[in-house]
Amino acid sequence: MNFEPTETQQLVREMVRTFADKEIKPRAAAIDREDAFPRDLYRRMADLGLLGMTLPAEYGGSGADTVSWAIAEEELARANASLADAQLVAKLMSDVILINGNDEQRARYLPAIARGEKICVIAQTEPGAGSDVAGVQTLARPTADGYVLNGTKRFITLALVCDLAVVVATTDRTKRHEGIALFLVDAETPGFRHGAKDPVMGVRGLETGEIVFEDCHVPHSAVLAPPGLGFKQAMRSLNKGRIGIGSQAVGIAQAAMEEAIAYARERTAFGQPIANFQAIQFMLADMSAQIEAARLLVRKAAWLTDQGRVPVREAAEAKLVASETAVRVVHEALQIHGAAGYSSESTIERLYRDVRLYPIWEGTSQNQRIIISRELLRGPR
Ligand SMILES: Cc1cc2nc3c(=O)[nH]c(=O)nc-3n(C[C@H](O)[C@H](O)[C@H](O)COP(=O)(O)OP(=O)(O)OC[C@H]3O[C@@H](n4cnc5c(N)ncnc54)[C@H](O)[C@@H]3O)c2cc1C
Repeated sequence: MNFEPTETQQLVREMVRTFADKEIKPRAAAIDREDAFPRDLYRRMADLGLLGMTLPAEYGGSGADTVSWAIAEEELARANASLADAQLVAKLMSDVILINGNDEQRARYLPAIARGEKICVIAQTEPGAGSDVAGVQTLARPTADGYVLNGTKRFITLALVCDLAVVVATTDRTKRHEGIALFLVDAETPGFRHGAKDPVMGVRGLETGEIVFEDCHVPHSAVLAPPGLGFKQAMRSLNKGRIGIGSQAVGIAQAAMEEAIAYARERTAFGQPIANFQAIQFMLADMSAQIEAARLLVRKAAWLTDQGRVPVREAAEAKLVASETAVRVVHEALQIHGAAGYSSESTIERLYRDVRLYPIWEGTSQNQRIIISRELLRGPR
């Protein structure tokens, strides 16, 4: 067993940390306050090869492994969760197109996504269906030359700035999983409409909102995964997404602990730095141990992916533990800040709002427990 990162993984970490510290972190508060997508920083991530990092070279990527990507996600989130998540969406959607797209779609979209010229989103959640993916109501009605899409998607990251979307729709609402198909839809297609913005509490600046389909006619070639396969492919993507979200949670927790350490050293009470109090020291000790445990789980799930496995239980465990850990760590870090942490001008207050999303998206904590227990009870395969 080797816990040492490879030379490439170390280089990725150094490069992303330098970039994130110098260019992203100083703007993190403004991104949150203004809640507008920082397209220039997104382009910088593309220039640094971060948007297509795991794509093959022929599509503009550098063929990095999943562990390197997980490290990059953690380092980006340590500076700003929103940009880390924008990178996650680019990676996941590139993978979906790479695996399921035809040659024309791959050539047309993958290099453009890697260059940051096109933004592709996952349009799965609806006003009436989140955890229950098989319950989506967006209807894809077959026609002679393709499908007509009708329905509304909500809480879609980058919805208002996207150029294309992987749409989870049903061809038959009575068939649940068996009716689910995936479509790749260009935002310029008539009937594709960017809807209203969803006002969100944290992870702001991602133009999260609605995408509406009104008699949106797509050709047969837009089908990425037909009914029957669509649900499986959506679950595969969510599985990889859990490694990314877990990595982001570790990055946020790490940032919160660093803030807490700095504050504990500088703040004095009763004539001494609060870092001298054992109550504070033990909170920091618990943070460090829990963050490292979460990091190891996330890295293990990433490593298993690099071994060609589909680590369903491990990715769910990593996401569950990392997101719940991050919520606890940020909560304690705010406690160490006292009233200063409750000020909306503090970094920790932003992290507190950001981190609350992690046990919710990419499958709630309850959803992860369902997956883990199902895998356990299924027994060895
Ligand atoms: C900022 C933000 C960005 C997002 N980005 C995207 C995106 O890009 N694309 C996208 O498609 N979606 C996105 N989502 C949606 C996100 O993935 C969903 O919110 C998530 O899947 C949970 O669905 P829900 O909110 O509808 O909750 P629900 O499914 O309605 O669940 C509500 C509660 O019931 C619990 N629950 C549900 N089913 C069960 C069960 N069987 N057993 C026990 N408890 C259960 C849940 O755990 C939760 O506590 C985003 C959400 C947010 C807030």
